[in-house]
Amino acid sequence: MSYEDNIRKVKPYVPGEQPSGSGIIKLNTNENPYPPSPAVGRVLREFDQDILKKYPDPEAVKLTEVLAEEYGVSKEQVFVGVGSDDVLAQSFLTFFNSKRPVLFPDITYSFYPVWCDLFGIAYDTVPLNEAFELEAADYDRENGGIVIANPNAPTGREASLSEIESIVKNSPDSVCIIDEAYIDFGGESALSLIERYENLLVVRTFSKSRSLAGSRIGFAIGSRKLIAYLSDVKFSFNSYTMDSVTQAIGVAALTDKGYFSDTVRRIISTRQNAIASFCELGFSVIPSSANFLFVTHPTYPADELFAMLRGRGVYVRYFNSPRIDNYLRVTIGTDEEMKKLFEILREYMG
Ligand SMILES: *Cc1c(COP(=O)(O)O)cnc(C)c1O
Repeated sequence: MSYEDNIRKVKPYVPGEQPSGSGIIKLNTNENPYPPSPAVGRVLREFDQDILKKYPDPEAVKLTEVLAEEYGVSKEQVFVGVGSDDVLAQSFLTFFNSKRPVLFPDITYSFYPVWCDLFGIAYDTVPLNEAFELEAADYDRENGGIVIANPNAPTGREASLSEIESIVKNSPDSVCIIDEAYIDFGGESALSLIERYENLLVVRTFSKSRSLAGSRIGFAIGSRKLIAYLSDVKFSFNSYTMDSVTQAIGVAALTDKGYFSDTVRRIISTRQNAIASFCELGFSVIPSSANFLFVTHPTYPADELFAMLRGRGVYVRYFNSPRIDNYLRVTIGTDEEMKKLFEILREYMG
């Protein structure tokens, strides 16, 4: 017997590398290559530091109200958290409290099984088809909850709104979480279903489309009932999660709609060009509604390309996991960054 026998032991999620240094091209963690809105800079320059002596607003009321207005819901339907990872973790803890297994695809965000293990939640993975498409009918079985990333990560593939709706509709006795981390890059959101399905929770983040991965802002939108349950759990854990500076930054970013749509448009346009360049080099590209592409090549193994690129200061993501171990996930950077990537690939692949 030792004190270690009483310790909760878990296998943690492994985030992408965060290399530093000049000349590095970072296309490995789906960050936005553009800086946050200039409105965020103004908030930081003008922030009254006296505010920091007090606790932050535990309910992030201002940010919640601005989000409610932006998405056309009431503020009782919005929950704010410290990045969507925080929102998702709290949601798993709140909504997945059944003996029946929670369902999610076999290829998806690798944090889902980590939270299930941490909280002791039973789960089953549901295989995507050969083309990495989700088949809604596969979720029409007994379950203790469902979580779907849409567009999916790391594939970038989007399930149609009608498929999402049929999943939510066919499991009225479970909460269905739709993780829309990448929805702003051209996807169709399930937010339009919120009023019809009380068991639907849509989770979003400022990390990707709003260039604020470093600030940690995520949120969920759902029925008043779900949001109330989620808040009860959050306030049983830690009241003061989001700091005052971040709350102000979030409001500023959300208010600058022109900058948001401009940068999103630029990424979508760079994505289109990148698809063409990958195809010219003989890669197969999974259709993407996200700010990254999932690519594979018939003759060059993905791990070899990954190591070669890394050696030249270009970081992409490689997952040594079943079914996807010959794919690379490449974040869409600026046009200049992508140009450099393709120069290196062209040179290497002759
Ligand atoms: C990036 C990502 C998140 C986490 O985003 P944060 O808001 O930065 O915590 C959640 N889900 C998916 C699918 C992601 O890719």
